[in-house]
Amino acid sequence: MGKVAINIATGSLLQEEVIVGIDLGTTNSLIAIVKSDTHEPIALREIDGLTLVPSIVHFDQMGGTTVGTPAKELLVKEPERTIYSAKRLMGKSYKDVSHDSGMFAYNIIDDGTDALVKVQVGDKFYSPIELSSYILKELKKRAEHILKVSVTKAVITVPAYFNDAQRQATRDAGRLAGLDVLRIINEPTAASLAYGLGIKGSDEKTIAVYDLGGGTFDMSILTINHGIFEVLATHGDTYLGGDDMDNLIVRYWQEDAGTSDDAPGFGTHIDKALAQELRVTAEHAKKHLTNNDVFEGEVAGRKVRITKDDFNGLIQPLIDRTLHSCTSALKDANLGVGQIDAVVMVGGSTRVPAVKEAVKQFFGRDVHDALNPDEVVALGAAVQADILAGKNTEMLLLDVTPLSLGIETMGGLMDVLIPRNSKIPTKAGRQYTTQKDGQSGMRITVYQGERDMVQDNRKLAELNLNGIPAMPAGLPKVEVTFLIDADGILKVSATELRSGVAQSIEVKPQYGLTDEDVENMLMDSLTHAKDDIQMRALMEATTEAQQMLETTEKFIAKNRDILSDDEVAATQAKLQDLRNAIAEKDKNKIQHETEALNEVSRPYAERVMDAALKDAMRGKKII
Ligand code: ADP
Ligand code: MG
Repeated sequence: MGKVAINIATGSLLQEEVIVGIDLGTTNSLIAIVKSDTHEPIALREIDGLTLVPSIVHFDQMGGTTVGTPAKELLVKEPERTIYSAKRLMGKSYKDVSHDSGMFAYNIIDDGTDALVKVQVGDKFYSPIELSSYILKELKKRAEHILKVSVTKAVITVPAYFNDAQRQATRDAGRLAGLDVLRIINEPTAASLAYGLGIKGSDEKTIAVYDLGGGTFDMSILTINHGIFEVLATHGDTYLGGDDMDNLIVRYWQEDAGTSDDAPGFGTHIDKALAQELRVTAEHAKKHLTNNDVFEGEVAGRKVRITKDDFNGLIQPLIDRTLHSCTSALKDANLGVGQIDAVVMVGGSTRVPAVKEAVKQFFGRDVHDALNPDEVVALGAAVQADILAGKNTEMLLLDVTPLSLGIETMGGLMDVLIPRNSKIPTKAGRQYTTQKDGQSGMRITVYQGERDMVQDNRKLAELNLNGIPAMPAGLPKVEVTFLIDADGILKVSATELRSGVAQSIEVKPQYGLTDEDVENMLMDSLTHAKDDIQMRALMEATTEAQQMLETTEKFIAKNRDILSDDEVAATQAKLQDLRNAIAEKDKNKIQHETEALNEVSRPYAERVMDAALKDAMRGKKII
């Protein structure tokens, strides 16, 4: 495992690269970054002042797309051309969604097979992956517009209950949008990270995440132990959310407009346009009631009204349903409310005061709700991205994997389980299956490297899983897990879940690898534009070296009295060597000298940083 090169003045890694965090939501999506100066996660805000992009795509007659708020406005006028909730279809076959296809106003293709769902718009067909990629493209464009740099790397969140196919579909959508998806993380994990839960390596906590969004409710119970999150239980309702609150208000106004003049409501026979106007006004009313006791408005020239008490009465059954899910999740996790150390509120609908109150009561404790609940998942994704980029200050003494680790899959392809730059210890797993009927053995070959074909990567180990009972191809479920412990030992295990047949091995990924090898493997992965890469490598090495020079000089000046004369003299000598290397424009030499400088300064830098960190952490939040 390679140490992260630390900037001894700021504790940050010497590299500049934006990795964004993305919440690809059912209702709304957004993108966030961690600010490099303050280390704070922020949601990116367009000039329209908004951070949320409605997860809606509209297709015009020519196949052109509009995404977000302008598409939302076309929802009523052209329902069959305006696709919402594509996330519900990710990684699903028609069979999976057939019983709720009536929920969608657009056309879902039914070819009667197990094939993946497609959506028909005019004479064109779109997969949910493509639909999601349009949303991701829009987010990428926004980020590039706001940040004025190209954005190619992202961490994307998914619900904790997403299976492998759904996660893979999300990854593919990212790739289609031109994003290298460094990691897919669970939404509740992201929300916890946004609150700084689990950032400190030693944290050991049990966290309940209550996520009430636009159309879905998810309760997740997580544990965090030495930086590794584990989902103990999830429970929820895929058709319960803020939209239902809006519908309840609409129905209330259909029965009774709520005005004092005893006027009757709008009735049940209303046209599409009026229905939509009622819905829009209802959502507005709901939001208004977060901070007010009564809402008064107008729909189709008529007055409408609803009080907070009325609203709370309407939604009480919805709240009760969410609390039942909480009970179930706790039961599944074998925990009592008393064993929950923190409760995190997520999703726009948790802004409703009655919801918040009910959750506090249920868990008998205060909840984390200081961050915007509809942004918190993206903020946490940004924190994860920051950790991957090695910029998180808390990371400064931690190790990362310098190269990606994965296994060979069909066609000699590298399937990465643990991406490079992952903080260790770390754990990852994925399910595979057999290709032949009656196949009784499976060879799992572990590789390290960044190339797409395993033949170009470094083979680390081979594991044979034998004794799989005879089954038709595709039926066995072989779970492969990679676990890298704090010492950098990789443990690979494979288990056939139906029969319990298992096998495991341990490898030391860095064994026999020099830094140069690692560097070469990284370089090789970027086969295209080799010259560019060399130039870039020199530039990066130079920038890193210059920053290192500058900060070391400042550091010495500032801490002269804590350092010994020997330390100062040794450092001065290395500083001069590095200046010479920079002048020679020799990348390897520059890197060598940077590392040498790092080597002499690391012991005392850590000494001083440790003291400073202890100070900073006393009674302070990390992010
Ligand atoms: P998702 O995770 O499904 O994409 P969000 O977390 O963005 O959804 O939540 C969207 C929901 O939050 C919508 O139903 C919206 O009306 C609701 N919402 C947003 N702000 C408020 C508010 N102030 N009061 C009540 N509900 C709100
Ligand atoms: Mg959400």
